[in-house]
Amino acid sequence: MRALQWTGPETVAVNEIPVPDIGPGDLLIKVGAAGICHSDLTLVNFPYKIREDPLTLGHEVAGTIAAVGADVVGREVGERGVVYLFWTCGICRECVSGNENVCLAAGRVAMPPCPGLTEEGGMAEYVRIPASTFVPIGDLDFLQAAPVADAALTAYHAIRGAKEALRPGGTALAIGIGGLGHVAVQILRAISGVRVIAVDIAQEKLDLAAECGADLGILSGDDTAQQLLDLTGGRGVDAVFDFVGVDATAKLAVETVAPNGAYRMVGIGGGVPEITAGPAGGPAWPWGATVRKSLGGTRSDLYACVALAQAGKLHMEIERFDLEDGPEALQRLDKGQIRGRAVLVP
Ligand code: NAD
Ligand code: ZN
Repeated sequence: MRALQWTGPETVAVNEIPVPDIGPGDLLIKVGAAGICHSDLTLVNFPYKIREDPLTLGHEVAGTIAAVGADVVGREVGERGVVYLFWTCGICRECVSGNENVCLAAGRVAMPPCPGLTEEGGMAEYVRIPASTFVPIGDLDFLQAAPVADAALTAYHAIRGAKEALRPGGTALAIGIGGLGHVAVQILRAISGVRVIAVDIAQEKLDLAAECGADLGILSGDDTAQQLLDLTGGRGVDAVFDFVGVDATAKLAVETVAPNGAYRMVGIGGGVPEITAGPAGGPAWPWGATVRKSLGGTRSDLYACVALAQAGKLHMEIERFDLEDGPEALQRLDKGQIRGRAVLVP
């Protein structure tokens, strides 16, 4: 089969490799579509070897069951679904509490095993998955479904975790209107009554935010923080969702989050927020505000996102590429030239 693989520092290639074998607890998925996430780019752009062997990319996968492992119950060939991206132990205290994204087996700061980032991924004709990670999608289009598995899931989890701060009449800020951000705007519209403001460095991304239901778009500049404070009567933004995560966006979040507000770091740009324990009155972090570095989502969140998509409340803006054109799609994402999500079809 053909697979888009990381083959070494800053190199990818479409290679011919064997169709994976499956174990007794696995499913073989015939891939219908696989989204390209900025995290794929981060991995590809690492200047060092992540491992010796090539790695098939792809953690945002939709497809059809092509084979069922001997011990799997309740699944059959032909079912359509998406793949939950954390392949966790399933038995630790966090997993059984529904917090699989912080599975104990992953350790303190690591991410649980994930196809395309640590395991063989789904930018290929077929992918092997643990049967427990299959979530049915009914007749949802594969191109629409694939980005649900990460772009929607991760945005939904960050938003759900900030629900205390998202009261009708309040304001939410989405920074970075790419694959994740454009879905976040729609999720905020679908599940809360807040005013939604979008910030990006590119006007066309703000146009996309407006199409997704944002009330206002602000082109990022020197006075963005002041504009946001003016728009919120000086109080600040109730929830800031940062889908970039560089120093500049961390600074914007710190300068604009409201008292008792929520700041959610989703983008992994290595930004360092300067949060100080100073007294009230100064430029310090406001009283009561919370910070969370938000990772992916839970399986239950994925069911919720599939339901929102099936109900027509999420529309993925996608650019379709053949698997062979994956390297070009990655380059375009690197240049900020993808509108919404790039999705590969094998
Ligand atoms: P993307 O490339 O599709 O979108 C990024 C957007 O941010 C673009 O619209 C770009 O114009 C905008 N942007 C860039 N710099 C900016 C700045 N300084 N200020 C405002 N906007 C800016 O990326 P994506 O796939 O949506 O991923 C977003 C981030 O989230 C990436 O860092 C990715 O690695 C990360 N991510 C994290 C998780 C997680 O679990 N925490 C999951 C998926 C992706
Ligand atoms: Zn991702």
